[in-house]
Amino acid sequence: MLFAKIVHNVTKLWNRQTLRKTLSVCLVCMTIFPLLLSMLITENKSEKILTKLAFNQNRDIAEQTAEDIDQMFSEKIKVLRIAVNTAEIKSMLPDKQNALLKAITKADADIQIAIIADSAGNQIARSDGRVVDDAITYRDREYFQRIKRIGETVVSDVIIAKSTGYPGVVIAEPIKDENQQLVGVLIVNVELRSIVDRIDQIKIGQAGYAYLVNGDGRILLHPDRGMVEQDVSWVAPVKAVMDKQTGLVEYEYKKQKKWAAFSYIPQTGWGLIVQQPVEEALADVSDVKRTTCMITVFSAVLASLIGIAVANMMTRPITDISEAAARLAKGDLDARSSVTTRDEIGQLAATFNSMADKLGTRTSALLESEEKYRSLVENISIGIYRETGDAKSFIKYANPALLKMLGYESMDELLTIPVSTTFWSQEEFTAVSELVEQEGTVKNKEIRLRRKDGTALWCSMTALKHYNHQTDTFCIDSMIEDITERKMANEKLCQAHAELERKVAERTRELTVLNRELCRISLQDGLTCVANRRYFDEFLERECQGAKREQTSIALILLDVDFFKLYNDTYGHVAGDDCLRQVATALGEGAKRGTDLVARYGGEEFAVILPDTDQAGAVKVGERILTQVRELAIRHRMSPVAEFVTVSLGIAVAIPRADLTPEKMILAADQALYQAKHLGRNQLQLAGELDSTEF
Ligand code: GH3
Ligand code: MG
Ligand code: MG
Repeated sequence: MLFAKIVHNVTKLWNRQTLRKTLSVCLVCMTIFPLLLSMLITENKSEKILTKLAFNQNRDIAEQTAEDIDQMFSEKIKVLRIAVNTAEIKSMLPDKQNALLKAITKADADIQIAIIADSAGNQIARSDGRVVDDAITYRDREYFQRIKRIGETVVSDVIIAKSTGYPGVVIAEPIKDENQQLVGVLIVNVELRSIVDRIDQIKIGQAGYAYLVNGDGRILLHPDRGMVEQDVSWVAPVKAVMDKQTGLVEYEYKKQKKWAAFSYIPQTGWGLIVQQPVEEALADVSDVKRTTCMITVFSAVLASLIGIAVANMMTRPITDISEAAARLAKGDLDARSSVTTRDEIGQLAATFNSMADKLGTRTSALLESEEKYRSLVENISIGIYRETGDAKSFIKYANPALLKMLGYESMDELLTIPVSTTFWSQEEFTAVSELVEQEGTVKNKEIRLRRKDGTALWCSMTALKHYNHQTDTFCIDSMIEDITERKMANEKLCQAHAELERKVAERTRELTVLNRELCRISLQDGLTCVANRRYFDEFLERECQGAKREQTSIALILLDVDFFKLYNDTYGHVAGDDCLRQVATALGEGAKRGTDLVARYGGEEFAVILPDTDQAGAVKVGERILTQVRELAIRHRMSPVAEFVTVSLGIAVAIPRADLTPEKMILAADQALYQAKHLGRNQLQLAGELDSTEF
């Protein structure tokens, strides 16, 4: 459990410390690779050297031993050849031969016995001086037959001596006469004690040994005596020796690889084979390999530890900065690097610390700013929200004001409904969405939102679409201002305005009527309802100007009721007023043209203006007026001129020139009136020819 925990922590640390890991791996590799390379080279070299040594050693042994054996046989054969050429041996007389035979055995300890046989194979002399055994014949012996056949020295195969148990061989040397005819054979039994010992002593490692084979491939001598006589002619080195070769060969025997050095022995036709299992021969190589491997492993472990330690040492300052940066990234604004070295890493640490200081300052300012804006957004009465802005847009953030406006109980509830459902209608939502999509913004658009309880909320919306680089998406920020009260106030204002307009129109109408009345009053005489003096003056001025322009004739009649004072005195003022009203009516009957004007000039005096009227016309109108008044037949019993009310008229007529003034015309008419009064009243008088210059 503890081990698993340690492994887990180390793995975690290892996985995190990438730079340290890389550096460690590099350093370890840099150390291990040369070591491995040198190990491989050493192994390879040592294998070659040891192989060569093993080969050379085996070959040397084989060649030396074979040479020694050959030498030994060579010397023995040499002695025998000398002996068979002596007269004593050639005589084929046992008495003569015995001494020499004895000398041969004495001279060579290996030669157990020397015997002379005649050409028929019968024993005729012995070196041990014993009586010749007639029963013994060599006729059937293989070596005897062979020597008879080839007439040369013959060495037999190895034979185990029954008496000593030692292996030995027979060397047969032909004895020839002067004609080189075989007359006998010198036979010596050679004990191979020294050769056997020599071969037995050849121990190469634990399993390496030497053995001797004859020319037919049968084993003559072998450390394992049971192997003697066995036919091994199929074994590779034996084959080579049978071909009279000397050399080295690697072969497989009973599924075991072996190295063999083989050497041909010319004197005997035998072969000596020194062989050893490859595995054993290379045991030293394995030792070297093992040792090199152990050294390499040890060096690698040591190098790894040193490499890791060095990497650790080199990366510690970077790790320190890295850890400080990680803490800073997690929000620990007090995280600083403790590295104070003067190298590049130290400079990096100082720069990092400086950046961390600035970050701290900026973060504080940012937090302060964020708090300020958050407070504003949270406490403002305007609803603010941010939506995803996609086809099925949801509110991602909303302030409490919006929540309150829309009548939702919790923010979670508001954040789970599509934005479109907060609009009064889908059409309004689509219209705003399209506007934002096309223009990127919407400003103070009056729309209706739908509260949770289904009621409408009039509001002014301002929205802005913008791209969020951090999330790589678009979003829309909107501000909602509740304008219900404003809307209602506006409606009331509109109603009030309409009402005001209606009233103003009504008052205007009334005023128009009043104004007309006023105008009428201001221009009309209150008693007689004809034009008053002011209107008369304006009219006369205007018509005089027109007559001057057009050079048409204009006439003015001034009229005065006769003895009106007396009338009043007689009938009273009310009757006088009534009289005046009737006279005014009579004047209207007298001046019939629409362009004529009847006016009360003052008191019981009237004036009639007759535009575009000449003297005859004016007189005609004057007379008609006189007639009309008479026809009124208003009783005036006190009048000296008639029993009814009468009037006197003064008429002035002119085609006015530039210097004609209304005053001149009135004066002329007034003078004519005066004359009418003077001449008896109840008549008209025409003003004399008006000299235009007088006007
Ligand atoms: P004559 O003109 O014939 O010489 O005599 P008269 O009596 O008419 O002349 P006068 O100018 O002396 O008198 C005018 C009178 O008219 C005086 C006044 O009482 C009267 N009068 C003037 N204006 C009015 C009015 O509006 N109503 C009434 N009832 N009488 C008026
Ligand atoms: Mg008068
Ligand atoms: Mg009068």
